[in-house]
Amino acid sequence: MLSFEAARKLILDSVSPRGVERVEILESLGRTLAEEIVAPWDLPAADNSAMDGYAVIASDCLEPAALEVIGHIPAGAVSTVAVSSGFAFKIMTGARTPPGCDAVAPIEETEEQGNRVFIKRPVRKGQHIRYKGEDVREGESVVTAGTIIRPTEISMLASCGRVFVPVYRKPTVAILSTGDELIELGEPAAPGRIINSNALSLAASVREAGCEPIMLGIARDNHEDHRRKMIEGFKSDALITSAGVSAGDHDHVRDVLKELGVEHKFWKVAMKPGGPTAFGMKDGTPVFSLPGNPVSTMVTFEIFVRPALLRMLGRQRVIRPTVTVTLAEEVSKKAGKVQFVRLRLERDGRGFRGRSSGDQHTGILKTMLMADAMAVLPAEATRFAAGAEVDAYLLREDAGMLEG
Ligand code: AMP
Ligand code: MG
Repeated sequence: MLSFEAARKLILDSVSPRGVERVEILESLGRTLAEEIVAPWDLPAADNSAMDGYAVIASDCLEPAALEVIGHIPAGAVSTVAVSSGFAFKIMTGARTPPGCDAVAPIEETEEQGNRVFIKRPVRKGQHIRYKGEDVREGESVVTAGTIIRPTEISMLASCGRVFVPVYRKPTVAILSTGDELIELGEPAAPGRIINSNALSLAASVREAGCEPIMLGIARDNHEDHRRKMIEGFKSDALITSAGVSAGDHDHVRDVLKELGVEHKFWKVAMKPGGPTAFGMKDGTPVFSLPGNPVSTMVTFEIFVRPALLRMLGRQRVIRPTVTVTLAEEVSKKAGKVQFVRLRLERDGRGFRGRSSGDQHTGILKTMLMADAMAVLPAEATRFAAGAEVDAYLLREDAGMLEG
């Protein structure tokens, strides 16, 4: 049977970004840059002072010296008058250094008296000057395509004069639940009915991944309803279904997807939870069929759908790194499949110590809620002793963060 890594690779090889749009710079936060950005000019644009102080000629100040102050250059001002030997300009941080100046004496090392300034410490040529182009040269590549735009990228893009930024389009992701037992949140409870929580957790995950969820509602357990709603789903950039993907009498997902011509890459994966996960392509639209137990739905989203959506968003790095967790207690599993085990973590020096968050059955949502991480326990091993090191994916943004 297919490993989850091989399954994930099949998925990632099948998907790609869906076009580019230009958005205002602040709207580009968190999006993925679609084109390389090249600096249109030098940064800084001209030599300027890194300190409040005096613009001088260094050779005048090899030892303590007195100079005549011939002007004041605040930030934003430009002096066309040069400094000549025996003279200095008072200058503020960020102001262009005047012609002839080759050093700035910081104000802390000077004393002004009338129109003279005493430079109390020797001055080194070039000190406290930020040179034209020392940060970035005109024509240099500053941000590459595929980069997530953070405040730091915004700073660079703004400095390069970009009002609008090319980013990959946000894919629309249709979400379809299946099952006769489902009711929508807010509908009156009835015996035998359960709330369609998967649609909401999937929509939240889709949104968290930076994409646009499209709610298709519930397909009832019959061919016709599945057909109609799946055809609707193919209009989006991706379709996610939950439940109905096993081999039960009322599971129609597989048959209908086949009938509709979805080209399947796999139907099953050697993992637990999440074994009955299928993936296929319909005319360029990826179709993810996830199992219905809410925990399995979330785990398979995390392992398969999230990386795929990030790739569709144009990201280069799409697979979360694992951290090493030292088990605080023994954990055992069956042989044959990789098992994702929900763990609670605590900081342990520089690393993490983890223990099971409790009952690992796929029907138990609470232990998913309590989990900080999901250990990836290899297929063949069955017993992991206390003290063993395992790989785990962090599940919470604040895992390992300190209270301060
Ligand atoms: P199935 O694969 O259709 O047999 O569903 C597996 C389990 O997941 C059953 O216990 C379902 O009731 C549950 N389930 C299916 N769909 C949803 C959903 N949309 N929200 C919450 N639970 C669901
Ligand atoms: Mg069902």
